[in-house]
Amino acid sequence: MSLDSSHRGDSAVEPLPADAHGERLKFSGDNAFHRELRRRVDAEFKRSGIRQRDSAQMYLKTAIILATFALAYVALVFFATAWWQALPLALLLGTAMAGIGFNIMHDGGHQAYSERRSINRLMALALDMVGGSSYIWQWKHARFHHTWVNVAGHDSDIDLGVLGRLSPQQPRRSWHRWQHVYLWPLYGVTAIRWHLYGDFRDMITGTVGERPFDRPRGRDLAGFIIGKLVFFTLAFGLPLALHPIGSVLAFYALVSAVAGILLALVFQMAHVVEEAAFPAPDATGWQMATPWAIHQLETTVDFARGNRVLGWMIGGLNFQIEHHLFPRISHVHYPMVARVVEEACRELGVAYREHRTFAAGIASHYRLLRALGRPETHAVAVLTVAPALPG
Ligand SMILES: [Zn+2]
Repeated sequence: MSLDSSHRGDSAVEPLPADAHGERLKFSGDNAFHRELRRRVDAEFKRSGIRQRDSAQMYLKTAIILATFALAYVALVFFATAWWQALPLALLLGTAMAGIGFNIMHDGGHQAYSERRSINRLMALALDMVGGSSYIWQWKHARFHHTWVNVAGHDSDIDLGVLGRLSPQQPRRSWHRWQHVYLWPLYGVTAIRWHLYGDFRDMITGTVGERPFDRPRGRDLAGFIIGKLVFFTLAFGLPLALHPIGSVLAFYALVSAVAGILLALVFQMAHVVEEAAFPAPDATGWQMATPWAIHQLETTVDFARGNRVLGWMIGGLNFQIEHHLFPRISHVHYPMVARVVEEACRELGVAYREHRTFAAGIASHYRLLRALGRPETHAVAVLTVAPALPG
């Protein structure tokens, strides 16, 4: 069965691109479980009278985060005169940048912010302001990652090149033995790599990870270029007019490191943990054994669902199962969706996985990195899927 949009939850993007050989990886066509989940979730929204998108909470939250970003930026660039003033402002600015990604652009990019395409597009463009191309993100995250979670060679989120082994399907290199140590500081440079290299590399090669994508044209290309100009002006142009180059580079690195670590940790916690599976296609290389929705549940783990402050700050991405099953529902509704999904999973005998705390997720990520880096590690050891957690 082909992967049309109805098959992939409600992520409203065009049909997925075929790969260079004109083929694409397919899931089992049995979507009974997914249809039942959708039916129950829609019924819950109807019963409670809540709209799935255009929540007043989201508009307020957007204003708070953008105001924090603007205030921290202006104070850091125009007013700070000593390191002890600049340091907390840089930490706040980095956190606000990550907050823009988690909360504003992520909902916009997934068409989950509003019913109106123009509002979603505007919110998605917030990513360009903080240094990442929302156009390339659409391919990398909304298509390749969301569809083929944890499938090596298809999900660009688990592709660190030779630097790390995040799946048992990836080749092990001798230095991976230490990846559970050296990857943490490297997460700090992920945003810098994205700003200065990643998008440009993708544009030049026409690929995201190993997969080809359509380079932007017309309005999308204009958005890419203007976004880069705005970002480089904010990050380097304006600061260099007022400060020496050394401090501009140091504070750029610090702000980006904060944002990069936050982004990397939140996304790794959802899929690159011991409880998540790393399924592979069959011998033809183009067919997965499970239906799409079951695949999402096998490869995704929630964390710290009871922590409302964390949930507010990271755009509900502690509810990654719900996000992956229903990417077009605004994240402010995930706690409600989670109650429905968890109950349905229990009734229908599908495992629902979560870490009770953020720290438990971090510990699990650390143990998986260590296991995948060991020379004796084989797929079997880390593919052992944990049982469903009670309650
Ligand atoms: Zn997403």
